[in-house]
Amino acid sequence: MRKIEHIGIAVKSLSDSNDLFEKLFGVAPYKEEEVESEGVKTSFFMNGPNKIELLEATNPESPIAKFIEKKGEGIHHIAFDVENIYVEVERLKKEGFVILNEIPKKGADNKLVVFLHPKSTNGVLIELCQEIAD
Ligand code: ZN
Repeated sequence: MRKIEHIGIAVKSLSDSNDLFEKLFGVAPYKEEEVESEGVKTSFFMNGPNKIELLEATNPESPIAKFIEKKGEGIHHIAFDVENIYVEVERLKKEGFVILNEIPKKGADNKLVVFLHPKSTNGVLIELCQEIAD
């Protein structure tokens, strides 16, 4: 794994939170994107070298809706940039981590993504992401 790619924050209202984080960072989100398969609407901010993803549920079955129901708004996941997501999944499987989706799927912001189950990572939802080459 290389650097932290972004930190994901679960929010109830993307538009309210966009306003809040725009005030906090002094920049507007550079992108908004809906990922239908995940039931989320996302926005992305760059603050210096750091990327923050906000996630709002688009339906009550969405993992984000369930997260907010249980824990309220807040940090939802930490995403790490990996060079080769397939190699990394094999390595982590051998180490005994529970992979939520062994086959990488297309996530927001032009990435292939895999999630590790928080029960195998001390309660932290970890996302691996690899930039999709154009
Ligand atoms: Zn993410």
